[in-house]
Amino acid sequence: MSIASDFHNHIVRSSAQQMVEAARNKDIRVLGLSEHVFQMREAHPHLLHMPLEGPILAYADYVEEVQAAGKNRDVEVRLGLEVDFIPEQNEVIQSTLQGLPWDFLIGSVHEVDGVLFESLHDLERAEGERLWSRYYTLLRAAVRSGYFSVVSHPVRMRSTNPYLPANLDEELEQLAADAAEYDVALEVNGYDTLTYINLVRRLARACANHHTAISVGSDAHNPTQVTQAHHYIEPLLREAGITSIRTWRQRVPEEMAF
Ligand SMILES: [Zn+2]
Ligand SMILES: [Zn+2]
Repeated sequence: MSIASDFHNHIVRSSAQQMVEAARNKDIRVLGLSEHVFQMREAHPHLLHMPLEGPILAYADYVEEVQAAGKNRDVEVRLGLEVDFIPEQNEVIQSTLQGLPWDFLIGSVHEVDGVLFESLHDLERAEGERLWSRYYTLLRAAVRSGYFSVVSHPVRMRSTNPYLPANLDEELEQLAADAAEYDVALEVNGYDTLTYINLVRRLARACANHHTAISVGSDAHNPTQVTQAHHYIEPLLREAGITSIRTWRQRVPEEMAF
């Protein structure tokens, strides 16, 4: 059996229907759609610093589009949202998304103390090491916040910051231990796997050590990226001794063996 779920997919550059169609062609049985909260009309005014990736959607239209795409019989579609975790703004961001029928919420750290780290360049070592340390503090806070089903891409800092801390494995172990304690999954992310697979391997090992739930998400921004790294992720997880993937229906976790 192979991994038949993918729980991190964006729709604004194509459509929910096109993403579901791609998933069906790739033998995905359960697909999680998870547009960015900052793409939502009601949340956008609180997140004006986030670069838009496509047209802004009202929550009601997003929910309707995802539910309509889910009428397809071959792929079960789950309604999710990728929500920025920003300490000073969490409350107001969360207030915009209440009362909607979410299956799962992804918590994402895209910024550290106001710095969008994925657009950094020419970083100095001292600042790089400080950012890694703050990054894990924020990821642990996201895990413990109670807002999220899963915390996404927990090695994404590597995208622009090569100054890996000497204690990276300890940071990952602590994060995995907290996630297990709070019953929040950590994400094995497709983009990260294609870009720095060794860090994802270290993340998987930490999760295996603490029996932390794992979600697999491509982070696809267009249909061709659905399942983009599944063929690397599957052996990587097996090698770590992980044999099931977490998914959610109406916020209730389910495990899928693979
Ligand atoms: Zn993200
Ligand atoms: Zn994403």
